[in-house]
Amino acid sequence: MLQPPHSSLQVAAVPAQRVPARGRDQDAPWHTEAVCRRDEAGLFFAPSKEPTAARLSREEAAKRVCARCPVMVECREHALLQPEPYGVWGGLTAAERRVVLARRRRREVELKKAARATANRIAG
Ligand code: SF4
Repeated sequence: MLQPPHSSLQVAAVPAQRVPARGRDQDAPWHTEAVCRRDEAGLFFAPSKEPTAARLSREEAAKRVCARCPVMVECREHALLQPEPYGVWGGLTAAERRVVLARRRRREVELKKAARATANRIAG
């Protein structure tokens, strides 16, 4: 699993067992170009017991950083594929990533159904 590009931030708020460890793709090009690598504002992970209004404000600020990041697409895909359970990655919160993943799963199921129906039509 990849070290989060924004690991200098409030990673302490993330349960230790869920903090991504350094992995073999740590030196992936996208990772070295991450805008958040030197950001120390604590935008990307929630501190414990963060009030909702503060969380929303922090996440929006993190997303603004992501919006100017040259590796946003790569970062987002990484977070979706892992999947990364916490923090803002690639301009998406954890909740938003869950929605994207659910959509992808539904789409995969529909595509498989369509492929089966086509195969049955051809066979039968
Ligand atoms: S998209 Fe956001 S979280 Fe990902 S590397 Fe860039 S700034 Fe960091």
